[in-house]
Amino acid sequence: MSIKENLNKIKNMLPSHVTLVAVSKTKPNEDILEAYETGHRVFGENKIQDMTQKWEQLPKDIEWHMIGHVQRNKVKYMAEYVSMIHGVDSLRLLVEIDKQAKKHNRSISCLFQMHIAKEETKFGLDMEELHEIIASETFKSLDNVEIVGLMGMATFTEDKAQIRQEFVQLQSMYTSLKTDLPQMNVLSMGMSGDYNIAVEEGSTMVRIGSSIFGARNYN
Ligand SMILES: *Cc1c(COP(=O)(O)O)cnc(C)c1O
Repeated sequence: MSIKENLNKIKNMLPSHVTLVAVSKTKPNEDILEAYETGHRVFGENKIQDMTQKWEQLPKDIEWHMIGHVQRNKVKYMAEYVSMIHGVDSLRLLVEIDKQAKKHNRSISCLFQMHIAKEETKFGLDMEELHEIIASETFKSLDNVEIVGLMGMATFTEDKAQIRQEFVQLQSMYTSLKTDLPQMNVLSMGMSGDYNIAVEEGSTMVRIGSSIFGARNYN
């Protein structure tokens, strides 16, 4: 099936309150334009340099989401245009995003990335670390970032019950944090292999790559 067909099929299956981030990492501009021609505008990348190159070359009404791990020294390259940063996992990173957003006179929407998977290798905060951040004076002083929700990645496993349990856990973190951060309205969970489960468990934003663009070739 073509990119257009894949995209339309997924869009027709998703409830209307769920935003689709089309994950175009490693894919060429032509593939992104094929999706763009269907009217789709929200794309996700995991490398700041690649995303910036695509932003420079592609139509300016694309909303670019940074879904990967962010190095602080690279925030400056995307601060002018990025729509949402999904992987905020430290206060130091958030301070840098705030500083760079200020230079462009804008506010950047951010998600705290929570660690819900069994794998140690995956990035993200636990609830204790998150509470520490939001209770800090530094956090309260940031004017150019807006925390709009949470993001998480489930364990890479065939065990659907395990994946579901991790999404339930993230959803309950999201619900309990709404007391402190009532402006939150994004729960970013679900990828090609697990987005159906994620949507059933309350996801409002799915990040789907290979089911739209096909398998990725890393070299
Ligand atoms: C690559 C990636 C995705 C999309 O993965 P697919 O399995 O291709 O849908 C989603 N989220 C993050 C954080 C990613 O790095």
